[in-house]
Amino acid sequence: MITFSNIDGTPVYYWRTNRGNTTTRNWNATQAFYDRLVLWIRDLRSLSSAYGSVSYVVSAGFYVNKAGQHGAGTAMDIDHIRWSNGTTTSPLDRAHASGTQQIRRRYLALDAVARRRFRFVLDGWYNAEHADHIHADFGGLPTTCETGSESDTKFVQAMCNNFMNSGLAVDGDWGPLTQSAFNTAKSRLAVTGDPHSSSSVWAGMMSKVAQKGFANQAF
Ligand SMILES: [Zn+2]
Repeated sequence: MITFSNIDGTPVYYWRTNRGNTTTRNWNATQAFYDRLVLWIRDLRSLSSAYGSVSYVVSAGFYVNKAGQHGAGTAMDIDHIRWSNGTTTSPLDRAHASGTQQIRRRYLALDAVARRRFRFVLDGWYNAEHADHIHADFGGLPTTCETGSESDTKFVQAMCNNFMNSGLAVDGDWGPLTQSAFNTAKSRLAVTGDPHSSSSVWAGMMSKVAQKGFANQAF
């Protein structure tokens, strides 16, 4: 386990006891997980560069003394991101459930960036426990889109609804309507190849979704 207070130079704060706190804090994770966080934040910077640089990340935790991926030092909970132009996205404020489409799309962009580097990503559509943060961990790798996964399916359904007005039930059940909407999304985003079997195809699709989300553009 290593100790860090920033990811590749970007500070990581903790707001669960004091919102707005920008005191440096020490976090712990495995070296391998930290290395993946570096790739994640570089993706985030690149895909959201229209907002300037990433000023800080707010997290609810990485290593936590409990069972599972957090206990192994291989998980992250994302509460909030702020960029240098003042833009934010705030899972902590339940941005996924905002009445404003642009805020939901920006949340989905952050969600999509996480899915490039982590396959087990749990968000506000997944369950009530994740209504106020996005969880990402080392489980279930490599990163592909699994139709049998409730978390992947709910993400895809929310994505199709928010970018294409698909009107899908976000129920985690990959049925024919979800398949049809997903096919439309792939076509409109010019995704070639199979996101269910190829990590590079899925990661590429997630980059395109992130770009659309940060730009508040339908597809
Ligand atoms: Zn978590």
